[in-house]
Amino acid sequence: MTSLPEFLSRVRPPMTPALVVRREALLRNLKTMQGYCDAAGVRLRPHGKMHKCSTLGRLQIELGGVGLCCQTIGEAEAYAAAGIADLLVTSPIAPWAAPRLAALAAREIGIAVVADDAGQIDRLDEAARAADVTLSVLVDLDLGTHRAGCAPAAAPALAQRITDAGNLRFEGVQAYLGHLQHVTDLKRRRAANDIAAARLRGLVETLDAAGLHPRFVTGGGTGTYAQDLANGVFNELQAGSYAVMDIEYGDCDAPDGGGQWPFEPALFIAATAVSTRHKTHATIDAGLKAVSVDGPRPRVLAGAAPGSEWRAFGDEHGSILHPAHMPVFAIPDRMEQCAAIEVIDNDDAVEWPADAPQTGDPVWLQPGHCDPTINLYDALIVADEDGEWESWPIDARRVTR
Ligand code: PLP
Ligand code: MN
Repeated sequence: MTSLPEFLSRVRPPMTPALVVRREALLRNLKTMQGYCDAAGVRLRPHGKMHKCSTLGRLQIELGGVGLCCQTIGEAEAYAAAGIADLLVTSPIAPWAAPRLAALAAREIGIAVVADDAGQIDRLDEAARAADVTLSVLVDLDLGTHRAGCAPAAAPALAQRITDAGNLRFEGVQAYLGHLQHVTDLKRRRAANDIAAARLRGLVETLDAAGLHPRFVTGGGTGTYAQDLANGVFNELQAGSYAVMDIEYGDCDAPDGGGQWPFEPALFIAATAVSTRHKTHATIDAGLKAVSVDGPRPRVLAGAAPGSEWRAFGDEHGSILHPAHMPVFAIPDRMEQCAAIEVIDNDDAVEWPADAPQTGDPVWLQPGHCDPTINLYDALIVADEDGEWESWPIDARRVTR
């Protein structure tokens, strides 16, 4: 098998910064997760907000996915326009979006949405009646994330309200445990997840007893997939990041307890050194607009001395700090702090590092957090092991009308 540095050395995107997907790694990740879900008898509905790319979404479905999750109405519209059927909007939607959701339902592509309060349910019913459709609705539960979702005790009444509404169909419950996904220590993550799963199991029993059977119990993510598949409560898994992974997940314990993640990094940023006057750092064309910085910093994978680090150097630039000079720096994270560079600018004592990137050289990064990084690009450059590539539009991004 080609090593990662070998693979990266073969890929030459037509321009930089570029977002490169290693096709073989992506395929391995997709097939591995689909295999786990199949073995557990759980449907896989990958989260399409991670990649916002209908070509990738279609591939996930070809490999066995039942459809896609969407976080926004715009994603749902874009996926529907690309011919993808069976969509679940995993966030309660704003009032303005309800008629648009009903319009999608009228196209009979199979669409469902979650709701966590009575007002939303009533608005969805109204929009569905106006469009003369029946909308599938799931009750969104909050089991600790506190982003959206009703209190578990409120769920039966909301399920009943959906059931009683003239133009809604009660389809089940969603419980996404976002606050647990990146708990670094597996023991802690697993213990908290077990408690949430027990609450969810109890709630499903309560709903069943009230004659409000939840056909779908959906949730779960890359950080808890092994527990989600094993606990017997979920019948649908919503994982997203597993497809390409990122540093944020790679730095957490793997959920299966074996220590090793079964998913490998498949997403990389190709950059170019554009200015290398200084001995301490090279300036590349990948800055704040090329990589999201909400999570861990992107990691330098190739094209620079081992141990080199990336720092933001403005909107369109990054600096690659050479490890030999790292202690000299106040390691700037903001441009104005880079005055520290002056100290060594004219210092003849500083050796020119032989292994630093030179102007025009490629530099490769791994993103810290996949979803917001992908959202910065128009296309994925999907590359084979021999460096041949094709472009997949990130077509579900920022859809407005
Ligand atoms: N489900 C919901 C509702 C989410 O918000 C997310 C991601 O934030 C996911 C599933 C997928 O999670 P992950 O990318 O950790 O697999
Ligand atoms: Mn994420």
